[in-house]
Amino acid sequence: MIISIASGKGGTGKTTIATNMALSIANAQLLDCDVEEPDSHIFLNMDLEKVEDVYQSVPVVDKEKCDFCQKCSQFCQYNAIAVLPSDVLVFPQLCHGCGGCTLVCPKEAITEDKRIIGIIEGGTSDGVEFYHGMLNIGEPMATPVIKALKKRITKGNNTILDSPPGTSCPAIETIRGTDFCLLVTEPTPFGLYDLKLAVEVVKHLTIPFGVVINRDGIGDDRVEKFCIERNIPILMKIPQNEDIARLYSNGQPFVSEMPEWKEEFVQLFDKIQSENVQ
Ligand code: SF4
Ligand code: SF4
Repeated sequence: MIISIASGKGGTGKTTIATNMALSIANAQLLDCDVEEPDSHIFLNMDLEKVEDVYQSVPVVDKEKCDFCQKCSQFCQYNAIAVLPSDVLVFPQLCHGCGGCTLVCPKEAITEDKRIIGIIEGGTSDGVEFYHGMLNIGEPMATPVIKALKKRITKGNNTILDSPPGTSCPAIETIRGTDFCLLVTEPTPFGLYDLKLAVEVVKHLTIPFGVVINRDGIGDDRVEKFCIERNIPILMKIPQNEDIARLYSNGQPFVSEMPEWKEEFVQLFDKIQSENVQ
C-alpha cells in the first residue's frame, strides 16, 4: 500500500507523521519527496549513500542540418528553445525534457543530451528502507527528481511518501497514483485555509483521503467542523504536548520514547488499509 502524507502548508507536522508512522508499521519504506528541502532523514538518524544521479533530457541542435524553420520553437510550450534567423538557442532550465522538438524537427537536426539535475540518496534505519531526492541548487524543476524517487517504490512494501508542502506541481506529482492521502493540518485559521486547498487537489486526483489534526488543542474547532460538514474522516488527533514538542526539537521521532503512539500509528495504518484494500 502507498500512502502519501501531504499538507496545504509547511510546518503542520507532515514529516513528523510520516517518520513516526514509518517507524511503527511493518515492512515500511519511506520516501522523502520534498526534494528541495528534504529533512525526514534527520528524524531517522542514519548514514545516507548516493544511489543514483537524476538526469533531465535537453535538446542539442546541429546547426549544419537546421534550416531555422522554427517548427521546434512553435511546438515548445515552455519557451525553452528559440530560433533566430541564423541561430537556435536552448534554455536547459526551462526545458521539461518532453522530446517534442526532436519529433517535430523536419531536418532531424535535434538530438538529446542529458544533464544531472539532482541525486537520490538512501539508507536503512530501524527496519525502515529510506530514500530521498535532492534537487541541485538553482534547478527549477522538482518533478523529475520526484518521479525518479517514486521508481524506488517496492511492491509489497508499505510505502509512505512525505510530500512537499503546498498544492503546486511537486506536491501533486507526489500524491498522484498513491492509494491514500493523509492530509496533516493544525486547528488554526491558516491550517483550515490550506486544508481546503489540499482537499480540492486530492479530490481532483480522485485519491481517497483523511485528515490528521496535529497540535490539537491550540486554535479553534473550525477544522473539525469543516471535516464534519464535508464528511471528511478525521483519522487521528495529536495533542499539543510538551514531550512531543521536546522530542521534535531534539530531532527524535516521538514513538521512540512514547511507545503507546506506535500502536496508534499501527491502528491508523490498519484502518486506512482495511478501508482501501488494493
Ligand atoms: S525544427 Fe529543426 S530545422 Fe527547424 S528550426 Fe528547429 S532545429 Fe532547426
Ligand atoms: S524537449 Fe520539450 S520542453 Fe524541451 S525544448 Fe524540446 S519541446 Fe521544449
